[in-house]
Amino acid sequence: MKGPIRQKTQFSLIYVLIAALVLSVLQSWLLAPQTVEVPMSRFLALVREDKVERVSLTDKEIRGTLRPGALPAAAPRPGDRVRTFLGAEPTVAIFTTTRISGVDDSTLLKELEAHKVEFSGRIENTFWRDLLFGWILPLGIMAGIWMFLMRRIGGGPTQALSFGRSKAKIFDRKELKTSFADVAGVDEARAELVEVVDFLRHPKKYQRLGGRIPKGVLLVGSPGTGKTLLARAVAGEADVPFFFLSGSEFVEMFVGVGAARVRDLFEQAKEKAPCIVFIDELDAIGKTRGGAGGFVGGHDEREQTLNQLLAEMDGFDSSKGVIIMAATNRPEVLDAALLRAGRFDRQVVVDKPDVRGREAILAVHARNVTLAPQVDLHVLAARTPGMAGADLANIINEAALLAARKGKEAVEMADLEEAIDRVIGGLERKSRVLSVKERDIVAHHEIGHALVATSLPHADPVHKVTIIPRGVGALGATYQLPLEDRYLLTRGELEDRIAVLLGGRAAEEVVYGEISTGAHNDLERSTEIARLMVMQYGMSDKLGPMTFGGGQQALFLKGSGFGQEREYGEDTARAIDDETRAIIDRIYGRVRDLMTAKKGILMEAAAELKLNETLEGDRLRALLAGTVTEGAR
Ligand code: ADP
Ligand code: MG
Ligand code: ZN
Repeated sequence: MKGPIRQKTQFSLIYVLIAALVLSVLQSWLLAPQTVEVPMSRFLALVREDKVERVSLTDKEIRGTLRPGALPAAAPRPGDRVRTFLGAEPTVAIFTTTRISGVDDSTLLKELEAHKVEFSGRIENTFWRDLLFGWILPLGIMAGIWMFLMRRIGGGPTQALSFGRSKAKIFDRKELKTSFADVAGVDEARAELVEVVDFLRHPKKYQRLGGRIPKGVLLVGSPGTGKTLLARAVAGEADVPFFFLSGSEFVEMFVGVGAARVRDLFEQAKEKAPCIVFIDELDAIGKTRGGAGGFVGGHDEREQTLNQLLAEMDGFDSSKGVIIMAATNRPEVLDAALLRAGRFDRQVVVDKPDVRGREAILAVHARNVTLAPQVDLHVLAARTPGMAGADLANIINEAALLAARKGKEAVEMADLEEAIDRVIGGLERKSRVLSVKERDIVAHHEIGHALVATSLPHADPVHKVTIIPRGVGALGATYQLPLEDRYLLTRGELEDRIAVLLGGRAAEEVVYGEISTGAHNDLERSTEIARLMVMQYGMSDKLGPMTFGGGQQALFLKGSGFGQEREYGEDTARAIDDETRAIIDRIYGRVRDLMTAKKGILMEAAAELKLNETLEGDRLRALLAGTVTEGAR
């Protein structure tokens, strides 16, 4: 993505102020004659010795010029204050004396007359000095402090002068390299947007029968699914100006700034119509008003910004050719007013890709990478359910870096596999050394998961088991390969998931007769599933097909910490706990029996896992099926 074209005037007050200051200081030093300041007594003495040619009087000081030839008399003595430029010797016979207040002028004048001193009054011109010290300097200092603070807050000096301007970046079509070809796996969203672009190009065609062009399109989807990418592609494909900005750019700490920016944005957009305005991360300004902030108040700024946005969206006519696009990860927090007809009336869901989509996305990102011929993107796609486009892009990139580091000519399957593990589990930490006993326990624990997964009909097959510590806290891992993406799960499948999660703990118990802390996360997850089965899916015989809790709270209570009481009584709560425990207990009993029965396989597989650190593929399947013979080893 090439940089945006920004139009702004570079004008900085501070430079002008500094220049003025430097000039006036130089002026006062350079142009002022070099003088010696003498005491009043010496001044009088000089007058009486007839050495003074002429004086000018102001009400504060006397400035005198010596007669030619009288110079030495006025030479500075120790204690005199000599005012010269940069310490040069005073060469001009000029001196000044501070007048003593209260001394009668008439005596002084008589004295001057008597010694034929030419004298004149002078009104000191202090205009420039007063201006400098009274106005320019203090203002300069204040401006300096202000700029400093603005910079600390986050804007540069230019920004301080353009506070209410919108920060939208206008993209020039020639600079945009993104096209729909760069977006894969989100075909439905893409089709919707293609249509929107067509609205902009041929409004007449759609209005022929009286239809109304949509004003706003909201892209909704998890992070990393390609919403921003889609918007850029639209900008690249539509032949119109594209204003791109993020919701957070409206939000400032000063009330009213956001609203001013919204106003400015829409003014610019109307001038440039037909055009597209894209507001990324809309939730930054579009949160439910008055609710999410709780009862503390103080959300005036965001509320004003949102109100302004709503008003602007109402205020223009989409037939003029301005379409507002926005994206959010969290549609549920958006203010209902934003979503109603006439505003963001089109909502486009950008979903996480399915297996075919993932393969297509991998292919898009593999275009710029040298892949070895045996790399099978289909297999990789199958290994990465639940991953969004951003994760997949990351995997390709990681693999390319890994392969390059190893000095390979092309990215091989092994690099990609390692990259997946990295993205899933954080970086490998081979440096962390487990004690022998710990490795023993982890190996049996992981084989326990794998053994249960292989033995149960509904569980996903096991793809890989490892005891290489990864990321934070994970000592080992068992990777299962789902055969397909799942949207619906049956009771049997959920129970088998719980069983697989409990397999680790059961293995530890059967082998060592005691259990470690390593199963904590497994227990958390299995309890969660069991609880959902009882409370949300109505899968408990005793409580029947009902749901308990977890429903939507009243909007105005959301996030405030209030209104989260249970909507069922003590007895029901106890029944829920009992049922959850019953499910876990029943399944755990089954798993422990299975583990006892297959203890031989467990021991053998765990021993080999300890040796190899990682087991996968046919070897793993053979070990778990118990079909390994001594000869095959
Ligand atoms: P979102 O805005 O939805 O959080 P982005 O659009 O910022 O996600 O996606 C981040 C990056 O992930 C993109 O720049 C792109 O490289 C990659 N990506 C995400 N989705 C896709 C996709 N559907 N096709 C191709 N690349 C994608
Ligand atoms: Mg984004
Ligand atoms: Zn485990």
